[in-house]
Amino acid sequence: MPALTGCIGASNAVNDLLENHGIPGGLTLACLDGGTYTKLVVEVDYEAGYKPETSSTNMLVERLEQVCDKPNGVELKFEETTFDHEGSWSAQDVRDEAWDTKSQEPRDGSVLTWQFIFPSNTYSDDNVLGVAVDASTVAIFGDSVDDAAGFFNRPSAEEVENSVLVHEAGHLLGLVNLVYTSPANHEDSENKGHSNNEDSVMYWAIESRSVGTFISGDLPTEFDQDDLDDLTGLANGSIPSTDQLWRS
Ligand SMILES: [Zn+2]
Repeated sequence: MPALTGCIGASNAVNDLLENHGIPGGLTLACLDGGTYTKLVVEVDYEAGYKPETSSTNMLVERLEQVCDKPNGVELKFEETTFDHEGSWSAQDVRDEAWDTKSQEPRDGSVLTWQFIFPSNTYSDDNVLGVAVDASTVAIFGDSVDDAAGFFNRPSAEEVENSVLVHEAGHLLGLVNLVYTSPANHEDSENKGHSNNEDSVMYWAIESRSVGTFISGDLPTEFDQDDLDDLTGLANGSIPSTDQLWRS
């Protein structure tokens, strides 16, 4: 089994203390609750040649609309950019470059902004396709996504990308057990922060370059019932949450 420790970047204690960027899941309630942050913007910052497929970003919006109460909608904001970075990426590199390119603070008035960056090159562990590094920031590594396509293009790179975007958004939503403890036993015992159900988009293999060899047939692109029940419980308070940068 590949090591998948890269998918959720360890938090940087100093950074979190001084700047309070939070951990993945730290803005879960801000997303699920519609009272204060009435709109969610997903900022998509990509290097030339690394713009995600329309099917991926549209699916991301659809999944977020499904679980987050956003009366003023979920919007995409695309920007081509050049990251001041060479070589492979560490979680800290992602934090530094992403925060340099954020067009606004994650919480600004009634708008919540999450950022997905699409840089060239790979993560330090090139088996990792995507990583959530703090409460509002995700990186997806397009070269590794392309390499993850299966034999005869099953799954295709586009299908892998579709699933990885939703998977990383799931981490920003706190899945699985990142900022709470699920009453259901669906966290994979070997791969913390992930689902043990291969029909969930939060299944642990989704972020791995060898995903095509672990899942036969179609890749999951949806949260399963346990994931959805966790989010419902977090939203209505029946499941206590930790590490929140905001709560109502
Ligand atoms: Zn993951």
